[in-house]
Amino acid sequence: MQADMNIGMLGHVDHGKTTLTKALTGKWTDTHSEEIKRGISIRLGYADAYIYQCPKCQTFLTQPNCECGGKPKLLRKVSLVDAPGHETLMTTVISATSILDGVIFLIAANEPCPQPQTNEHLLVLNSTGIKNIIVVQTKIDLVSKEKAIESYKQIKTFLKGSNAENAPIIPVSANSNLNVDALLRAINDNMSPPKHDETAQLRMYASRSFDVNRPGTIINELKGGVLGGSIVQGILKKGDQIEIKPGITRKEGAKSTTVICTVQSLMEESESLDVARSGGLIAIATTLDPSLTKSDALVGSVVGRKGEVPDPVDTISVKYQILERADMQNMPLRENEPVVINVHTSTGVGLLVKLAKGIATIKMKKSTVVYKDMHVAISRKIGQRWRLSAWGKIV
Ligand code: GDP
Ligand code: ZN
Repeated sequence: MQADMNIGMLGHVDHGKTTLTKALTGKWTDTHSEEIKRGISIRLGYADAYIYQCPKCQTFLTQPNCECGGKPKLLRKVSLVDAPGHETLMTTVISATSILDGVIFLIAANEPCPQPQTNEHLLVLNSTGIKNIIVVQTKIDLVSKEKAIESYKQIKTFLKGSNAENAPIIPVSANSNLNVDALLRAINDNMSPPKHDETAQLRMYASRSFDVNRPGTIINELKGGVLGGSIVQGILKKGDQIEIKPGITRKEGAKSTTVICTVQSLMEESESLDVARSGGLIAIATTLDPSLTKSDALVGSVVGRKGEVPDPVDTISVKYQILERADMQNMPLRENEPVVINVHTSTGVGLLVKLAKGIATIKMKKSTVVYKDMHVAISRKIGQRWRLSAWGKIV
């Protein structure tokens, strides 16, 4: 069984994203140590949550054993997607909206609502138009019943008029596993899998690529390069021929080369698949020379069937809006300003060459594949850091 949707985890720092992900999946996603290359690339964390239900007592569980003695059945799997840090989390939600089918929005019960990042995450949620939202009121074990109700009312008021206005609010204590069953039920009932358009052209965004061979492996036993990413439309089968664009760039500034190869096998987490569609992180074992896939060399590329991926471009036009941020003064964009652009899983440096009528024209250092209406996150250098400042759509 493949995960049937991707759910982003949002919420103020320390409100319990990592802890809740662990409670739902048994995995820590907080392994982002060397994940931010040059401070601008984003490595998404994926972890599958298994949703079981006991046929005897109707309880929802994360595993197939129930206290009542019933034999819980696996209903479905959903993939939880996390990004490290506040800045990259917001950038991801904008640039990877096409990968996310819903959001779990965490708000702690033991702090006044909204905290600054809670506020910004709601702004981002509203900007992207993601509507499939469940609010989780975390750390419920740290407050009295009266405080919990007061916090609930604050959350309700805060969400009024937003995309999350009618979202269910589930109180949870993730580290003592309280009410996680109610959250599983809410996910199952409220987050129905998106329509998987299997007849559409295949499109996948590469978010990993690696060489799985140990140093010293003899040539006959070498395995082909592996590519990981999210399918957003279409299906992929064993034996399919695929193309990867922009593909490989030999050195900075050089033109990229499209890579073509055959799918040898497909995996989603620990499941081996004959056919893959959208949902979760798909790993493709390919016939490529592994030196082409090593060290995430193909991250940011688009995968499709041979002849179907548009050519990469080095100039993009974005109809943009400045993002209002509580934690910094956001000035209008300026011509000749360097920016970092995130689209799907691609991160690149560019120069703002023209601003006119709400449209920014950006010359990218490296070319990238884009589609019309695709969401774009624009970050600019403020002090020593790249900060998310605007977002928009490809025109
Ligand atoms: P993140 O920054 O949103 O990923 O937050 P973490 O999951 O790292 O949690 C921050 C801290 O809050 C950790 O020390 C957790 O153990 C603690 N924490 C998270 N959820 C709960 C909860 O439901 N109850 C209590 N008491 N502590 C929690
Ligand atoms: Zn039971």
